[in-house]
Amino acid sequence: VPAARRTGEPGRLWHTFCDMNTVSRGPEFVVARAEGVWLWDSSGDRYLDGTASLWYCNAGHGRREIADAVHRQMTLLDSYTVYGDFANLPALELSERLAAHAPVADPRVILTCGGGESIDTAAKLARRYWAVTGKPEKTHLISRTGGYHGLHGIGTSISGMERFRAGYGRLLEDTSVVPHDSAAALEAEILRVGPENVAAFFAEPVVGAGGVYLPGPDYFTEVARICDRYGVLFVVDSVICGFARMGNWFGIERFGVTPDMVVFAKGVSSGYVPLGGVVVSGRIADPFWNREGNPFMHGTTYAGHPSACAAAMANLDILEREDLFTVALEVERHLDGALRTLAGHPLVAEVRSGLGVMGAVELTEEALTERGITTADVFAEARSRGVVLRPVPRALLVSPPLIITWEQIDHLVSTLAASLDAVSSR
Ligand code: PLP
Repeated sequence: VPAARRTGEPGRLWHTFCDMNTVSRGPEFVVARAEGVWLWDSSGDRYLDGTASLWYCNAGHGRREIADAVHRQMTLLDSYTVYGDFANLPALELSERLAAHAPVADPRVILTCGGGESIDTAAKLARRYWAVTGKPEKTHLISRTGGYHGLHGIGTSISGMERFRAGYGRLLEDTSVVPHDSAAALEAEILRVGPENVAAFFAEPVVGAGGVYLPGPDYFTEVARICDRYGVLFVVDSVICGFARMGNWFGIERFGVTPDMVVFAKGVSSGYVPLGGVVVSGRIADPFWNREGNPFMHGTTYAGHPSACAAAMANLDILEREDLFTVALEVERHLDGALRTLAGHPLVAEVRSGLGVMGAVELTEEALTERGITTADVFAEARSRGVVLRPVPRALLVSPPLIITWEQIDHLVSTLAASLDAVSSR
C-alpha cells in the first residue's frame, strides 16, 4: 500500500461506481494477487472470487500462458493502431477466429477496448446503416428494463436502469425502454414509435448487471421475428454472456436466433487486457464494404491492440483446450442447485439462476424496507468471511470463474447463507 495511505489521509484514486464520500474514508480493499478462483488482499488474506471481478475472468486468474503471450507480443510489436489500411497479425487472427464461431451470417469484426465502447460502435453503425441505405430517419434505439450496456454516451442513453441515466442533462432522446420479459411490449413500442423510425433493438441474452433476469423459452424467437418483420436491427449484447459463461461462444446460441450484430468484451480476453468488439453481419456490412463512398468514420486509437488480441487468442486457447464450454454447463447446473437452497431463507424473496454461470439472490421487500437491511450489509459480511459477491440494490449477484469446483461453489453458497443469517440476527 502506498505510503500516503498509511497516514490515514485519503488517497488520490477516484473509484468508479461508488460514493467516494464513503469509500475515501477507507479502508480500501486492495486486491494484491490472484490465482485460479482466489484473491489475496494487501494484508495477505484470501478470498473466493465469487464474481470473476465484474463477470469477466472466465478462465480464472493467474494464467501464465496469457501473460507469456502478451509478453511475446509486446516484444515483437508493442502496438500499432488498426486504421485505414493498417492491420496487425493478432487482430487479423482474432477476427477470423471470432467470425468462425459467431452466430451471425457472413460476419465481420470490429475491435474495440471494451463493452461500452462496442455498444456505442454498434449503435452508431446501426444508424449509419439506415442512413446510407436511404432511411436516415431510422434512428430510434430500444432497450430493456434492467438492461446494462455500459456507460459511454449511447450506452448511458439506453440504460434500462434509471440510476445510470439520471443527472447528466439531456441524453439521446430517440430511445425507449421496454419490459425485459415481453416480446409483445417490444412490438407495441415499435408500432408506437413507427417502424420507419426505429434503428435497432438491444438485448442481453440474460439481463446481467440489472439483476440476472432469464428470458422465457420463446422470448428471443419472438424478438427475432418482430425485428425482422419491422426492419429493426437486432443487436445482442453478449458482453457478460459470451466466451463460455453460457456454455457457448456468444450466449445467444442457446436461443437459436441469428442477430444482425453481437457485441462482446469481458470474457474474450478474460479481462487480462481490455478488449471488446462487435460482430457485424454481412448484410449490415455490405453497403460499407461493397459500395463506394460510405466510410464508417468511427474508431479509437487502441482498437485491435495487438497485445489485447494476443491475450484473447491465448485465453480462447484455454477455453477450447479445457473445454470450458462444456464445463460451464455443468457449473451452471451445480451453481443453480446450490443457490436454490437459499430460496427458503427468511431474507430471500427469489433466487434467479439456471442459465449460464451466474445467479441472483434477491432480498425480500420486508428485509430491504422495513428492516433496513441492505445488500451492501450482506456483501460486507460475506467478504469478512472470505467470499467476494456483488451487491446491486435488491440482490447479491454471483458469476464465478468457470473453473470453480463443486466444493468451492458449496463454500460460496454456504458463506452467503451464513452471511444472511448474521445480518438477519443483528
Ligand atoms: N454490456 C454489458 C451487458 C455489460 O455487463 C457491460 C459491463 O458490465 C458493458 C456492456 C460495458 O462494458 P465496459 O464496462 O467494458 O464498458
